Amino acid sequence: MAKQYPCVGCLVQDELPMQKIRCGPNLEIDRCLRCGGIWLDCGEFEKLIELGSFYINNLEAPAESEPEINPERQCPKCRVRLKVMRYDKMPGIEVDVCPKCGGLWCDAGELKAISEKHRS
Ligand SMILES: [Zn+2]
Ligand SMILES: [Zn+2]
Repeated sequence: MAKQYPCVGCLVQDELPMQKIRCGPNLEIDRCLRCGGIWLDCGEFEKLIELGSFYINNLEAPAESEPEINPERQCPKCRVRLKVMRYDKMPGIEVDVCPKCGGLWCDAGELKAISEKHRS
């Protein structure tokens, strides 16, 4: 069975593992049911963008609650601080990236915004 990882955005990290969800051919990602945030391993972000907005929109389910403002966001796998990354091509979009494993955290709604900007 695949290991489950705590949510990056929720403060109650260890009590609330993210759920594996299948979001397209050959792609499974981790999603938090509470805040709707999504964790992507290194390389999965590119795969998801390639799959396109249809699959990305499917991932955007209503969250049960707002993500906590957690200043100490950590990689759920490496337990190191995530770095905020901005895309030159996509002003206004900020994602949290793990400097060690290259994993990427998107708050609810961010992925959708990224896919929309990516298309235009
Ligand atoms: Zn969460
Ligand atoms: Zn990591």
